[in-house]
Amino acid sequence: MQITMSAPDITSAEIEAVNQVLHTPVLAIGPQTESFERSTAEFVGAHHAVAVSSGTAGLHLAVIAAGVKDGDQVITSPFSFVASANVILYERAEPVFVDVDLRTGNIDATCIEAAITSRTKAILVVHAFGQPAEMNSILQIARQHHLRVIEDACEAIGAEYRGRKVGVLGDAGVFAFYPNKQMTTGEGGMIVTDDEQWSHLFRSLRNQGRDVFDGWLNHSRLGYNYRLDEMSAALGRVQMGRIQELLEKRDRVARWYNERLANLELVETPYITATTTCMSWFVYVVKIKPPADRAEVMRKLGETGIPSRPYFTPIHLQPFYREKFGYARGDFARTEYLGDVSLALPFSSVMTEEQVQFVCDNLARIVQF
Ligand SMILES: *Cc1c(COP(=O)(O)O)cnc(C)c1O
Repeated sequence: MQITMSAPDITSAEIEAVNQVLHTPVLAIGPQTESFERSTAEFVGAHHAVAVSSGTAGLHLAVIAAGVKDGDQVITSPFSFVASANVILYERAEPVFVDVDLRTGNIDATCIEAAITSRTKAILVVHAFGQPAEMNSILQIARQHHLRVIEDACEAIGAEYRGRKVGVLGDAGVFAFYPNKQMTTGEGGMIVTDDEQWSHLFRSLRNQGRDVFDGWLNHSRLGYNYRLDEMSAALGRVQMGRIQELLEKRDRVARWYNERLANLELVETPYITATTTCMSWFVYVVKIKPPADRAEVMRKLGETGIPSRPYFTPIHLQPFYREKFGYARGDFARTEYLGDVSLALPFSSVMTEEQVQFVCDNLARIVQF
């Protein structure tokens, strides 16, 4: 049985839409991007949506909009993809890590206040694996201390916190559309915000610092080429039209896993907290508990042709971060524990029940010995 770690869900509608673009002369900055932005804004209930070339690019621009500069601090969690801390470094600011809640892998809101200093500018909140962080507490702390809140919703499009979609809970939110995400544009991302000024700034920054009223070669500020091309936007537009279907299919696959793994003593299935009124399944991550050994489980799954990945490797333990900041094991114990025991199983909206059964049968066989 051929099983991949993840897979995009592409129909003839996407292929047709991309093809259509190639029959026009407009391959960048055109109607596909505008349409994709409108449908995304509508889906999440945002006033503005600005398409960019990647989730990382979107997060970088959100950090700039938050006014983060040299020597400032931004609070975030180390249990994430490395990009969520890297974008803080792009502006020569310092990521200040706060450990996570062991059940969800999201920032532990009760530990944020102790990390705030006079240099803190913003909180960059990661909704890990598609589960919303504890936003009420986070927003309250941010208000009290006059901090900006950026949501890294790159893994969480469509997720709901207490009935409200993530991305528009803070000052700006960012989605990512890499091929392993819930929906894809190949490479691509989207920033959403209710702040009109910020939306103008994002449009300028993604387009080499041009202002809307600037001539083609007039650049008001230092900008970037973070634009999304029209082929990618056409793909995104069709995927966004199918987002509910894509999320429902992923939810069904997650339920197949949950049912089959519920009774395995050494495999802990994902914990969904009460404030998560809608989970947006990005990955399906279990905890492999001792005496079962994760490395051995991975190896044995691999022998049967089933890929799996440790997820995440803590950011503070990445070689670059260790070297630059002197981090070591023991600095963020809960993140490290999760980093040690978490295992992502093959997961996508196109996975069949037979494939899930095959993965679970093999996992059960391996951990029961
Ligand atoms: C995927 C992801 C990103 C970055 O998205 P790209 O489009 O790959 O740049 C950022 N943060 C998190 C948590 C992600 O999972």
